[in-house]
Amino acid sequence: MSSISKSLRQQIINDAEYRCEYCSTSSRLIGMPLVMDRILPTSLGGSNEQENLCASCYRCNEFKGAKTTANDPVTKDERKYPKEIRFR
Ligand SMILES: [Zn+2]
Repeated sequence: MSSISKSLRQQIINDAEYRCEYCSTSSRLIGMPLVMDRILPTSLGGSNEQENLCASCYRCNEFKGAKTTANDPVTKDERKYPKEIRFR
């Protein structure tokens, strides 16, 4: 797996204003750095390009795993990751 450059990682975290793009938790609040989540996992052909990456807290990253959809907690509709869904 090719790695994500330090500058791209920083740009994505800056764009997300240091918040998890899934649950909006601030990385300062959880006291842990955000990780890069691949929206389409590499196991499904996802790339390390900017459009496939988002800033995620450790918990959301673990929860999402290799899934690409989840059910909206309110409407129960199946939604695609990320950004249009919050599961906390
Ligand atoms: Zn999160």
